[in-house]
Amino acid sequence: MEDVFNWQINRNMKYPYPAAMPEKQFAAVFDINKCIGCQTCSITCKTTWTAGRGQEYMFWNNVESKPYGGYPLYWDSKLLEKIGGGKWNNNTYEGKTIFEKAAEENKSVEGFLPALEDWSYPNMGEDEISGGDVKQGMHIESLPHPIWFFYLPRICNHCSYPACVAACPRQSVYKRPEDGIVLIDQSRCQGYRQCVSGCPYKKPMYNATTNRSEKCVACYPKTEVSLHTQCMEHCIGKIRTQGWLSQPDKADPSNPIDYLVHIKKIALPLYPQFGTQPNIYYIPPIHVPSPYLVQMFGTGVDAAIKAYKAAPSDTTLKGLLVLFGSCAELMTKFEVKNDIAIGYNSKGDVVAQAPIVEPNVIREHYDKARDVYRLDVT
Ligand code: SF4
Ligand code: SF4
Repeated sequence: MEDVFNWQINRNMKYPYPAAMPEKQFAAVFDINKCIGCQTCSITCKTTWTAGRGQEYMFWNNVESKPYGGYPLYWDSKLLEKIGGGKWNNNTYEGKTIFEKAAEENKSVEGFLPALEDWSYPNMGEDEISGGDVKQGMHIESLPHPIWFFYLPRICNHCSYPACVAACPRQSVYKRPEDGIVLIDQSRCQGYRQCVSGCPYKKPMYNATTNRSEKCVACYPKTEVSLHTQCMEHCIGKIRTQGWLSQPDKADPSNPIDYLVHIKKIALPLYPQFGTQPNIYYIPPIHVPSPYLVQMFGTGVDAAIKAYKAAPSDTTLKGLLVLFGSCAELMTKFEVKNDIAIGYNSKGDVVAQAPIVEPNVIREHYDKARDVYRLDVT
C-alpha cells in the first residue's frame, strides 16, 4: 500500500498504487436543487452506449430518489455499514476509507457484489418521502423541510483513487493520464467482477453476453473534442456543467469547476469518506436536513448551502449558475460583465451567454392596438 494525500478527507490515506494525477481531470458539477427526475440523462446514455445484448439492465447514468432509492439496491447503506459509519473532526475524516478497512483483512478494497436482482429495480423508492405523511392542504414553509426526498443523478465519478483500478487483478482498468477518464480494457478483462465488487458507487457493470465488465466512458469521443457528454448536454433541468478540475492549490477562479468546487466550495463530492476522491460534485439540496447531507457529502454541507442561498446577491456565482446547461461545447472559463454571464471554450471563443436578470415585461390590461382589455386571469 502507498501513502497518498486525499484532499477531500483532508489527510493521507493508504492506496494500492502511488498517486498519479492526470494532466487534467474530467469533472462535473450537478445542482441537485434543479433535478426534476425526468430521466432524460439516463435514456440519452442508454440509447448511446448500452442498447446491446447483455446490457439490458445497465444504466451507466441513473437517477435515484433519496433516501430510499438505489441502483443497485442499498449500494450505499450496505457499504456505510461495512466501513462503520464515518467520524469527521471538522473537515478531516477520522473513520476508515474502503482501502483502510480492507487492509485490516489483507484485501485491497472493501466492497461487495450486489445480487443480480438488486440491479432490477432502478426506480425502487422513487418519490418516497422521509419524515412522515403529507396531509392534504399541508404547506411546508421552513427550511430544511421536515418531510423530504430528492433526486440523485449518478454516473461513474472517474475517481482520482479509483477502487475499480485497485480491485482488478488483471490491471484491465486504467485511468487515462491525458484526462483522468477511467476505462476498462475490454481485451484484458476476463469478467471476474472485482471492479463491480470494489467500486463503492457500483458503476462498473457485468455483461454476461460478452463476459466482460463495462462502465461509463465519460463519452470520451465527445470529451476529446471539447463537447459535453450525452447526459450533460441533454439534461432537461440544466443541472449539469462539465469541465476540468485543478488540484486545490492550483485552483483558477475563472474555471467554472474550480470556482464551484475549490473557491466557493458549494459543490461537494459524494461520500468522500469512501476514499476514492470522486470527481462528480454535487450542490446539495437546500430543503434536506443537515445530518443526512453530512453523511452523504461531508462536513462542508452547511457552508455550501449558505453560499448557494446567497447566490441572488452574488453576481459571479449567480452568473455561473445561469450558464449551466447552456451550451454543447465545454465551457472552460467564465466571467460576468454588465450583468451578462459569458462562457468561453479553451480557445477563448464565446460558447454561452445569458443575462443574470431576466427581462420582466408587463403587458398592460388595455391593448391599444386592438382596442381590447386583456383579462387578468390570476
Ligand atoms: S466511480 Fe467506481 S467505476 Fe468509477 S472510477 Fe470511481 S471506483 Fe471506478
Ligand atoms: S436529465 Fe437532468 S433534470 Fe432530468 S433527471 Fe437527469 S439530471 Fe435530473
